[in-house]
Amino acid sequence: MLDFNHRPKIHEQIGALIDTALRAERDTQPRRNYLGASRLGVACERALQYEYLQTPVDPGRDIPGRVLRVFEVGHVLEELAIRWLRMARFDLYTQKASGGQFGFSVAGGRIQGHVDGVLSGGPAELGMSYPALWECKTMNDQSWRDTVKHGVSKSKPVYAAQMAIYQAYMETSITGISANPALFTAINKDSEEIWFELVPFDGGLAQRMSDRAVRVITATDSQELLPRHATTPTHVECKFCPWQDRCWGST
Ligand code: SF4
Repeated sequence: MLDFNHRPKIHEQIGALIDTALRAERDTQPRRNYLGASRLGVACERALQYEYLQTPVDPGRDIPGRVLRVFEVGHVLEELAIRWLRMARFDLYTQKASGGQFGFSVAGGRIQGHVDGVLSGGPAELGMSYPALWECKTMNDQSWRDTVKHGVSKSKPVYAAQMAIYQAYMETSITGISANPALFTAINKDSEEIWFELVPFDGGLAQRMSDRAVRVITATDSQELLPRHATTPTHVECKFCPWQDRCWGST
């Protein structure tokens, strides 16, 4: 007798087909061969180094299809945020006049970043100063509420570090961008609530992140593995790190 109970359900089959297609699409995209400035604020310098070196992740630790879908949803919501801000009379530029995203490339192309947008003007009643960096993130309800409660610098230090280093490195191409607070935008994916926060430039943080980038590149050039962030593989950072086995020597 046939056992229909073992046949994957329709939602599993279609979900698997979509995830396979998303992974295949991702695999056709060029891998980045630079240190992404948006990542400089992560907790562990060794993890940053693995990322910079494009070290293969541990078996079974590849990005799941669900997370690839999360990335895509984030991009679509960011497009909506751009539309909403423009409707609210902000002059928001997401592409250079010559085409392509705004961004920077330093240290011979080994550190690069691409910014979500640049504000060159906005509603006068807000009293904001321009040019200003615009950074947009999407979050689930819990994460969003934590950001609203504590502010981006405390709740999401990786994003704060990203904005600081972007403001610093963009100053050469957009004069004044580091003198004015960045506009941080967070969209709640569960409720569509929006959070805006003006984030003044933190020069000390930008310098620390720049020093960090130099440390990662220099250590990599001299084939030196940077120290671990934690003293035990059960540390929360390590549990979610795709190089956990490699780092702690079990592969
Ligand atoms: S496993 Fe932990 S210490 Fe090792 S690279 Fe990852 S986060 Fe850093």
